[in-house]
Amino acid sequence: MENIGIIIETDNGKIKETNFGMITLARDNKAETETELFAFVMDADVKVLKEDLESFGITKIVDISLAKEQQNNPVVRAKALINVIKEFNINTLFGLSTAMGKDLLPRIAAMLDAPLVMDCINVDLEQNFAKTSQYSGKTIATIKLSGDVLLFGIRPNTVAPVNIQIKTQTLAEMLKFDGEEFVSSSLRVVKSGETDKNININLAEADVIIAGGRGIQNRENFVILSQCAEKLNAAVGASRVAVDSGWVPYSMQVGQTGEKVSPKVYIACGISGSIQHFAGMKTSGIVIAINIDENAAIMSNCDYYVKADALNIILELTKLFNNG
Ligand SMILES: Cc1cc2nc3c(=O)[nH]c(=O)nc-3n(C[C@H](O)[C@H](O)[C@H](O)COP(=O)(O)OP(=O)(O)OC[C@H]3O[C@@H](n4cnc5c(N)ncnc54)[C@H](O)[C@@H]3O)c2cc1C
Repeated sequence: MENIGIIIETDNGKIKETNFGMITLARDNKAETETELFAFVMDADVKVLKEDLESFGITKIVDISLAKEQQNNPVVRAKALINVIKEFNINTLFGLSTAMGKDLLPRIAAMLDAPLVMDCINVDLEQNFAKTSQYSGKTIATIKLSGDVLLFGIRPNTVAPVNIQIKTQTLAEMLKFDGEEFVSSSLRVVKSGETDKNININLAEADVIIAGGRGIQNRENFVILSQCAEKLNAAVGASRVAVDSGWVPYSMQVGQTGEKVSPKVYIACGISGSIQHFAGMKTSGIVIAINIDENAAIMSNCDYYVKADALNIILELTKLFNNG
């Protein structure tokens, strides 16, 4: 019997959209009858999530309770998940390659001495293969995993979510796991809080990203870019030049040494399109470039481009959305 466990990420008690693509990938991989799809929930009321999880084919929902003061402690979360894996005989664990996944999955893999591939763009559980991009996206590696428990970190937004038809939907069994006793002697969370509003939409999970480069020219113009992003419900990204110039924090950098993103729409403003920048955003759906130089690399590697001053376009767009 195959048991696939999926770590569900939530935001304000709701399932983050990007989980549904990961569940779809797990479901597409399961053998018709004998596989159970487990959803592991640590941060939300499972009753609220039940219907959504069922509609994507989850058959068992595990409500993992942790002591309140340990909720944000990645060591405690990893310990609890390892015990859940053992208790429910999980052979395969899926999580997202997000900030949380990057903190959690390698810890679990190390503690279990189990194989892990992060940033997977596809997984084949029949052959135990994972596909992930390497060398700044120049090649796609196919990696074979073997072991009692296999772990996969799925790149957000790479698989389109598809829910199952209501008539084939089954009611998920609700299970509980008490992790209140778990503590960590090696790591203590001193403080946690909200990030800056314009970095709040997680880059890796965003549907729309508006990113700025050297052409945005300064920190003040990035504030204007952020205001436009807010209207588009988009996350703000940046090239390394913008980060190195101190206009925006590193957490906003897209590229080889920054975040890898796969939004539906990526708007590159005043970005030339270096190989290193492309390494982080080449799996985007539609790429729109705004640049004054028609010969910039990004102009021949995008779906649409505007040859113009990026700031003028941003201001016009913001005005349009303000009026609309
Ligand atoms: C090991 C290594 C790792 C790296 N990792 C990354 C990474 O993760 N991410 C990353 O981005 N880079 C990375 N880089 C840096 C990368 O090589 C480029 O230097 C960088 O991406 C260029 O940023 P840019 O496009 O903003 O600047 P530039 O290449 O200088 O391009 C600026 C563009 O803005 C246009 N422009 C100027 N004014 C305007 C205007 N008013 N309106 C519209 N357009 C305008 C110009 O025509 C030009 O095309 C890395 C480099 C190395 C060596």
